[in-house]
Amino acid sequence: MTDPAAPTIAGSTPGPAATPAAAEPALDPAADPAVLASEPAIPAVSVQGLQFAYPDGRVALAGVDLSVARGERVAILGPNGAGKSTLVLHLNGIHRPQQGAVAIGGTAVAPANLPDIRRRVGIVFQDPDDQLFMSTVRDDVAFGPAHAGLKGADLDARVDAALEAVGMAAQRGSTPHHLSFGQRRRVAIATVLASRPDVLVLDEPTANLDPAARRELTDVLAGLDITLLVVTHDLPYALELCPRAVILDEGRITADGPTAEILGDTDLLAAHRLYLPKGFDPAQA
Ligand code: ADP
Repeated sequence: MTDPAAPTIAGSTPGPAATPAAAEPALDPAADPAVLASEPAIPAVSVQGLQFAYPDGRVALAGVDLSVARGERVAILGPNGAGKSTLVLHLNGIHRPQQGAVAIGGTAVAPANLPDIRRRVGIVFQDPDDQLFMSTVRDDVAFGPAHAGLKGADLDARVDAALEAVGMAAQRGSTPHHLSFGQRRRVAIATVLASRPDVLVLDEPTANLDPAARRELTDVLAGLDITLLVVTHDLPYALELCPRAVILDEGRITADGPTAEILGDTDLLAAHRLYLPKGFDPAQA
């Protein structure tokens, strides 16, 4: 159920990517930009009526509906125990819906589609050391695409592009555990980007980062042409990176709207045990 007092999302769903005007009349109606523009865009992420309880009976998701358009950046806010991690673990099929459905770019998250879904949804967990286990940065970043069959120069190009995207190309030959925490987090993001996901999900990306590393990470993430879901307790960061935010509490989405409006509603935040840093004014940010 959506909180009636909550901001509603308006105009946040971008249409299909702009298509250059064709010089020749389109022969295939499906390739005609006018036809494409009239088609409803398939959401990058679609969650409908999702319910999930753990084996001990604890209800973690009590009917979640969420649609995220391609290229949107959405913050997922909520107190501890709200169901955020459980929701994220449904996006790549680690958990299976007990009720409802999840689809990525129109493809159902279902057993038959899991290899494809897991390439298309990259999840970066809170602790980068959970994702880095090889002896060099290069090998960690190459692991996913090599496993998918990429080899030789193509694999090297893929690794270089992922490392460049996170500003870590110079550390290609380094040992991950010799890097700073912020650098390890960026390499962990590169390990996921190397598989060219459509959707990148980050769990508490600013946890344990100093201000400089936080800034560098913001620049990296804001520069990616990707659909981004960011689970965070860092409300100023949510505002900086994500035009849209949702609040999840007790397994339900209770607010969904422009991040600035959600963070400007202190009663709404307090009702969900969310607090801005003292002196932080979202209207001035
Ligand atoms: P969040 O990520 O918002 O902190 P979670 O998705 O981790 O929330 O948890 C949602 C609810 O499910 C909480 O009540 C939590 O205690 C419960 N939960 C999470 N993982 C398990 C588990 N493995 N077994 C039983 N209950 C769990």
